[in-house]
Parts: sequence; C-alpha cells; structure tokens
Amino acid sequence: MNDTFTVLRNGVKMPWMGLGVWTAEREDATEPVKYALQNGYLSIDTATAYRNENQVGQAIIESGVNRENIFVTTKVANGDQGYKSTLTAFNKSLEALKLDYLDLYLIHWPVEGKSHETWKALEELYIQKKVRAIGVSNFEIADLEQLKSVATIQPMVNQVEFHPHLTRNELSTYCKQHQIQMEAWSPLMKGLLNDHPTLLEIAGRHHKSVAQVILRWDIQSGFVTIPKSFNKIRMMENHNIFDFTLSDEEVTRIASLNKSEKLPTPDMSKFRDA
Ligand code: NDP
Repeated sequence: MNDTFTVLRNGVKMPWMGLGVWTAEREDATEPVKYALQNGYLSIDTATAYRNENQVGQAIIESGVNRENIFVTTKVANGDQGYKSTLTAFNKSLEALKLDYLDLYLIHWPVEGKSHETWKALEELYIQKKVRAIGVSNFEIADLEQLKSVATIQPMVNQVEFHPHLTRNELSTYCKQHQIQMEAWSPLMKGLLNDHPTLLEIAGRHHKSVAQVILRWDIQSGFVTIPKSFNKIRMMENHNIFDFTLSDEEVTRIASLNKSEKLPTPDMSKFRDA
C-alpha cells in the first residue's frame, strides 16, 4: 500500500488522509485549514451544507500552497439536487472556493427521485474536466445498485460513517468489488472512543494516541480518512500516522469492536442557506 495516496479507478491519486471541516458550532475554518495546509495536510473535505466553502477557499489562497498539491472535495447539498440545480450549485461552490476545478465532487446524501438526475450532472462536469473525480456519500448497497443501472460513469468514491463501532463490512466488500474507494466520515466517532480499553491498550503498545490508532486502522482497512480538528495540536497528532503499522491481529481486533452503531444523523437543514 502506498502510504500517502490511494489511486482511484480513473488513476487520480487521492490522499489517504485529509482534514474534515464540518463543525456544528460554526467555528471559522479559515485559520485551521490554512494551518493544516502549511503543515502537511494535502486534502480538505467540505460541503455546500457546511457553509464554509468561502473560508476554505480563502485558506487555500492564504496558505501559499500550490493548488495542484491540494485535493479539494465538496458535496452537492440535498436541496440542490437535480440536473440543472446541481450544475448551478457546482459553479457556486467553485466560486466560493475560488477554484477553477475541483478534485472530488460528491452527492452528499441519496435523495429519492433526484439522485439519478444529480448524477447525470456530475458525469457532465467530469466529462467537461471541471472535476477530477466524482462520487457519492451515504449510499448503501441498494442506492449504489440503483445508480449502477442508470450511470454511464460509476462512482469512484463512497464517503460513509465508519469507525470501530461501525465497520460496514457488506458495504465495504461491495465497494471493493466495484472499485469504489471507501472514505470514512466521523472516523473518531466524534471522540467517543477515546477511553475504549482495547484501543488504549493498542495505543500504549505503539506509543500513539487512540485517535492515531483509529486513523491508522482506517487506512490499513482501505478507508480514506478525514478527521476534523481545528485544534493545532490534535490536528497534527491526527496527521502523524504514517510512521507506524498495526499488525493484522490488531486490525482484526479493532474491527471486532463493531456494534453497527451509528451516530445520530446530522440535521443538515440547519446548515443550508435559507
Ligand atoms: P470526527 O470523528 O472527525 O471527530 C471530530 C471531533 O473529535 C471534534 O470534536 C474534535 O475536536 C475531536 N478530535 C479530533 N481529533 C482528536 C484527537 N486527536 N483527540 C481527541 N479528540 C479529537 O467527526 P466529524 O463528524 O467531524 O467527521 C469528520 C469529517 O467527516 C467532518 O468534518 C466532515 O468533513 C465529514 N463528515 C461527512 C458527513 C457526510 O455526510 N458525508 C457527515 C459527517 C461528517 P477538536 O476540533 O476540538 O479537536
């Protein structure tokens, strides 16, 4: 496994780890994103629904890092789904991000009766080379099967909730078979696993934190990971996961903590423009 990048089905290199910037508290993302980019982060995960694309765009400029060296993901919001409305939403996202292309554009959630039209818009944007890769988020196997029957281009990424209490085995196997790169949201289960005895024991063995063990487990399990931290120390701690390896036994042991337990679904309506 290449330690820094995974390679998507279309050959695009995607960093194994990036910074998630969703914050229910509406913290400003500009300084944290700038700091992350200036200190080794190669990838930023935002969404129209997070209402901070502008801040991410500003941070990219202020960071001084070359655009080509940054992997930027955003997502079409549920209320923008549909063919024409997605094309319009994409242009607004690009403008807010102050970019002339995106690295990855995702359908944020499946929306009954809309996602297929949305996907056609994503295919169009991909063909026009306005985005280097396209994918989905929160799609279960049934959603992916439905999309497969209408899509010309299959999704390259599926971003889903994934952590040691939710290991998504069937979905993960399906995605591997279909060359869809899995990506973990809320990989740290929002900090709820920090005191887990098994994780503490494994962390102690490697002289690492529980967060570092979980994030390392993500990438060794084949999941791109996007932990959110706006705290400089925790942000760098999360990024420092490329200098140790979990044994196969440890990877399996962490996977066995699965409880199929999901976090409460975030109320995205709170984050949409009126
Ligand atoms: P995470 O599992 O990444 O947890 C974030 C929380 O953990 C924050 O409160 C953070 O606080 C804390 N934290 C971060 N690092 C550490 C550490 N090393 N030790 C202790 N605590 C830590 O949850 P998120 O829900 O934020 O998920 C990550 C990203 O996934 C989002 O930001 C977003 O980009 C994406 N996402 C996508 C969704 C989708 O539907 N596609 C849904 C939800 C999230 P602090 O900032 O103070 O460090």
